[in-house]
Amino acid sequence: MPLRTFLATALGCLIFFCATFCATTPALAQPPGANEMPSVIHVPPEALPSPHFDATAATNAYLAQIPADKTARSDAYFEGGYWLILWDFLYGVAVALLLLNLRWSARMRDLSERVTRFKPVHTFVYWLQYFVLTTILIFPLTVYEDYFREHKYGLATQTFGPWLGDQMKNFGVNVVLGGVLVMVLFGIVRRLPRTWWIWGAVVTILFSTFTALIAPVYIVPIFNKVTRLDDPKIVDPILSMARANGIPAKDVYKIDASRQTTRMSANVSGLANTMRITLNDNLLRRGSPEEIQAVMGHEMGHYVLNHIYKRLMFDSIETVLAFAYLYWGLDWAIRRRGEKWQIRGVGDTAVVPLVVLLALIFGFISTPIDNTFTRTTEYEADMYGLNTSRQPDGFAQAAIHLGEYRKMSPGPIEEWIFFDHPSGRKRIYAAMRWKAENLKLFAGQQ
Ligand SMILES: [Zn+2]
Repeated sequence: MPLRTFLATALGCLIFFCATFCATTPALAQPPGANEMPSVIHVPPEALPSPHFDATAATNAYLAQIPADKTARSDAYFEGGYWLILWDFLYGVAVALLLLNLRWSARMRDLSERVTRFKPVHTFVYWLQYFVLTTILIFPLTVYEDYFREHKYGLATQTFGPWLGDQMKNFGVNVVLGGVLVMVLFGIVRRLPRTWWIWGAVVTILFSTFTALIAPVYIVPIFNKVTRLDDPKIVDPILSMARANGIPAKDVYKIDASRQTTRMSANVSGLANTMRITLNDNLLRRGSPEEIQAVMGHEMGHYVLNHIYKRLMFDSIETVLAFAYLYWGLDWAIRRRGEKWQIRGVGDTAVVPLVVLLALIFGFISTPIDNTFTRTTEYEADMYGLNTSRQPDGFAQAAIHLGEYRKMSPGPIEEWIFFDHPSGRKRIYAAMRWKAENLKLFAGQQ
C-alpha cells in the first residue's frame, strides 16, 4: 500500500518490536513443508564442550545441519524481498503520479466538497475515496506479495477467504486511524501555515505513541486471539527469568499466529501498563525448551534495555526530519506542478498523493538506516538474552528455525542494507563464542 510509508511512523507500531524467532508449523500428521528446517536440531559434536572447543567450527557444524535445498529456498525467498522493496516503491510512485497527473485527486477533492461544508468532513470523505481507490490499485501487488508468494514458500496458512477477511479488517483499522490522523493534520496545516511541520510532527509522534499503547489490547485482538499461557512447564522458567531480571511480569501471553503464518516469533509490545511479552504458537509447538528460553531471554533484553522507548525516540527524530523535508518538498513541487495537478496549496486535501510520493522517497532512502537501527538493538537483545538464558545452543536452534525465511549467510553490505535482524550465521557465531567463553557452565553436557 502506498500509505504504508505515509503512515509508517504513525501506524508502524502495530507490531512494535521485532518479530524475532521464526519458522514453520504443521500438525504432526502432515509431512514437513518444503521450506521447513529440521524440527529437532541436535547439538553437533563440534559444539559439545571440549578442551578444543572452537566457536567457528561449532558455528559451521550448526550451519551444516541445514540441507542445501532449504538454504537455496530461503535465500531465494529473502533475496526476492530485496526486489520487492524496489517494486513496492516504484509501484507506489506510479500510483501517486497517476492520481496527480490524471487529476483524480483533484476530482476526489471536488466531490468531497460537494458532500458538506465542514472542512474536517471534507478531509475524511477525501481520505475514504483515496484509501478505497489506492487499495484497489495496489491490490494486485498485495495479493502477489502477501498471499501467493507466501504460499509458494510455505510460509502462509490461510486460504484466500480468511486472508481477504484479514485484509478487510486491516482496511477498516487504517481507514479509522488514518482518517483521524489526516483530519487533525490538515486542521493544523490550515491554521498554522508556517509552523505546521513542527506541530504536525508532534501530533504524529503522540498519535503513534497512543497507537502503540492501545495496540496490544485493542488492535492485535482484531486479527488474532491472544490468551494467557498457562502451561507451568513453559511459564515457570520464563517468570523465574523475568524475576531475576527485575521484570514485573505476572503473565506470559500466547498468540495464535498459526492462523496466518508458519513463522515462529515472539515480541514485546505496548507501552507502560499494556507492555507485554507474547510468544506465538508456532514457537511453542516447534521450539525446544532451550530454544524458548533463549528467545524469551532475547525479548526480556528488549524490555530491560528500554528498546521500545529508544525506538520511540528514533521514530520521533525521523518524524521531525520527515516533516521538515515535506515542508520543503511540498512547497517546491506545488510551485512547479500545483496548477497542472489542480492542487490549491498544502492545506488542500488533493495534495495527499504528493505527500505519499515524497514520503515514499524518504522511506526508500531511509530503509538501510531504519534496518541498521533495528538490527543494532536486536544484536543487543541477543547478547542480553545469552547472558540471562545461558542457552547458546537454544539460540543456535532458533537462528536455524528463523532461517526458513531469512538468509543465513549474507555479505556484509547486504546485511547492512537489508537485514533488520542479525543474520543467522552471525547469531550462531555470537552464541558459540559465548559458549566458548563460558564452557564451565556446560561441563555436564553430552
Ligand atoms: Zn528482537
